[in-house]
Amino acid sequence: MNVQLNDKVIVVTGSSRGIGAALIRRFADEKAKVVLNYCNSKDFAEEVSHYLENNNVEFLVYKADVSQENEVRGFYKAVKRKFGKIDILINNAGICKTSSVITTTEVNWDNVVNTNLKGAFLCTKYFAKDMIRQGKGKIINISSRYSDTGAMWQASYAVSKAGVTALTKTVAKELGEFDILVNSVCPGQINTGLEYLNEKGMDVMYEKEIKDYLQNVNYMDALLNFITYMCSDLFHSITGQVFFIDSRI
Ligand code: NDP
Repeated sequence: MNVQLNDKVIVVTGSSRGIGAALIRRFADEKAKVVLNYCNSKDFAEEVSHYLENNNVEFLVYKADVSQENEVRGFYKAVKRKFGKIDILINNAGICKTSSVITTTEVNWDNVVNTNLKGAFLCTKYFAKDMIRQGKGKIINISSRYSDTGAMWQASYAVSKAGVTALTKTVAKELGEFDILVNSVCPGQINTGLEYLNEKGMDVMYEKEIKDYLQNVNYMDALLNFITYMCSDLFHSITGQVFFIDSRI
C-alpha cells in the first residue's frame, strides 16, 4: 500500500512525546512536511527535531499550550507563514489525572478538560479556517476507548474524550460541505508515559517503562499504520466516524 504523504502538511498537537512523537516520525518517514507541537517538554521536542533534521524533512517546531486561545492563534499563524497551507490536523495533545470524582480538584478537572477537549476545539477553530479556504482537509481527533466505557478514577479524562466524540461528529457535519473529513480514533491503553508521568513525574521513564513500552510496539505500529492510512488519499469520503483501535476486546 503506497500512502504517498509527500506533499502534505501535517500538524500534530502534543508531539514531543508518546503517540504524537511516534506519528511525527512515521509521517517524516513518508516524507510529509510536519509540524511538531510541544508545551513543556522542550528536550523531548529537540530529540524528535534531530530525527527530522537527520532525515531531511521540512518541519516546524512550535511551543504552544493548546488550551490557550492566544497561543493557538500564534501557532496557526506560524504554520501558515512556514508552509502556506495545512492539509491535516491531528488533535493529539492530552493529559490525564487520576482521582475519584469526590477527590478531584476543580483545578485538575479544568486542566484535563481544557487540554483534551477545549484544546481540540481551539485548534479546529483556527486550522479549519485554512482548510475551508482550500476546500479540503482532514481533522483527526485522538480520543480514547474510555470515551465510550467511562473509566474508574478518571472522570475528567473520560468526559473530555466523550466530548471529543461529540465535537468530531458536530464538526464533521459543519465542515462536510467544504470537503473536510473529521474523524476520531480511540486507542486502548498504550504505555507511552502518560500514566507514569501522571503519577510519578517526568524523571521516571527508565528501564522498566521502556521495556513495557517495547511490549506495546506492535500495537503502536498498528495504530500508526491506521492513522497514516487515514492521512493518505486512499482514505476519502468517510467522515464523522469514531474508530476504536485496540488490542483487547
Ligand atoms: P503522552 O503523555 O506520552 O504525551 C502527551 C503529549 O501531549 C505530550 O507531547 C505533551 O507535550 C502534550 N501536551 C500535554 N498538554 C499539552 C498542552 N496543554 N498543549 C500542548 N501539548 C500538550 O501521552 P500519549 O502519547 O499517551 O497520549 C496522546 C493522546 O492519546 C492523548 O490525547 C491521550 O489521551 C490519547 N490516548 C492515549 C492512550 C494511552 O494509553 N497512552 C490511550 C488512549 C488515548 P509536553 O510534554 O511538551 O507538555
